Amino acid sequence: MTKPPESYFPADYRSGRAAFIEACEEADLGVTARVHPTAKGPDGKPLFIDVATIGAREAKTALLLISGTHGVEGYFGSGVETGLLREGLARRAPKGAKIVVLHALNPYGFAWNRRVNEDNADINRNFVDHAHPPANLAYESLSEFIAPGSISPAAMKKSNARLRNYAREHGDFALQTAISAGQYSHTDGLYFGGSHMAWSAAMLKDVFVEELAHVKRLIAIDFHTGLGKTGAAEMITEDLPGSAAYARAKAMWGGLVQSSEAGESLSAPLTGTIDAAVAQWMKGKELTFAALEVGTAPLRDVFGSLRKDNWLHTRAKPGHRGAKAIKREIRAAFYPDTAEWKRAVWAHAQEAIDAACTALA
Ligand SMILES: [Zn+2]
Repeated sequence: MTKPPESYFPADYRSGRAAFIEACEEADLGVTARVHPTAKGPDGKPLFIDVATIGAREAKTALLLISGTHGVEGYFGSGVETGLLREGLARRAPKGAKIVVLHALNPYGFAWNRRVNEDNADINRNFVDHAHPPANLAYESLSEFIAPGSISPAAMKKSNARLRNYAREHGDFALQTAISAGQYSHTDGLYFGGSHMAWSAAMLKDVFVEELAHVKRLIAIDFHTGLGKTGAAEMITEDLPGSAAYARAKAMWGGLVQSSEAGESLSAPLTGTIDAAVAQWMKGKELTFAALEVGTAPLRDVFGSLRKDNWLHTRAKPGHRGAKAIKREIRAAFYPDTAEWKRAVWAHAQEAIDAACTALA
């Protein structure tokens, strides 16, 4: 029996995890839990990355689904994964293929409604050589206005004026790139890629070695929210038009495919991404990777919520009286909690996975 798709979307990390595990049990799938060594949720309880696998262990073709790379974006991916399992994903794995479903790659961010992890690090910027991280000179020049020391209306007005100046001079997309490409110098800033390999990054590698090292052909979908028109979708690839991987993605997902490296996408070109890391691990084999990005709110509101949340966690005194409102705002910016939005993004995810399963067969 299928239920209305909006019923699959969780209210928080803890209930999302419970629903995922229950759906796995119902489908007779084992779940491997990797417990976070230090971080706990707001409820004081441990945090986990959970992985379920469907199909033959030694399969040479596979589909990998990842949710919660960006914590608070995990409501979408968690709901999709649980819903797919509920609706018979386990019976749909093509013969000889396996499906690896990873729940909550960044459980800290999911549980605390943050886009980043316990060290303020963005997991999808974390896969770099931390001894020689990429430079982001534009961020450097704007850091105090992107992540201001105060979020008082006067301070924000001044910061926003400086950012607007930059956009006037270089264009809106250049400002978006400066802010979001990834930076490795300001630990208390936005889109900080971390100063060492994050636990989540190490665990992803671990899952890959454990489950996917033998695979010759891999399709991977990483679920994200926050860019684009509310309820709209884009399949973001880092492969360039003209490459075999880009052609495969286009054949599978059609017009939704946009290359961030070629400037087609709503996303800026990024550093230290999961896409690039998995491409490294799959060297010499066939990889088709896309971030399924669904829109939530205007970019201005999304950035605004991130700046306030970053301020709250890196600069505010404990018990700040605006904390609850800031947390509500960031959750809403990445998770429009309406049936209409959930149905729209569920449909995008379902189509993307249907196409991937067909391509794997
Ligand atoms: Zn994201």
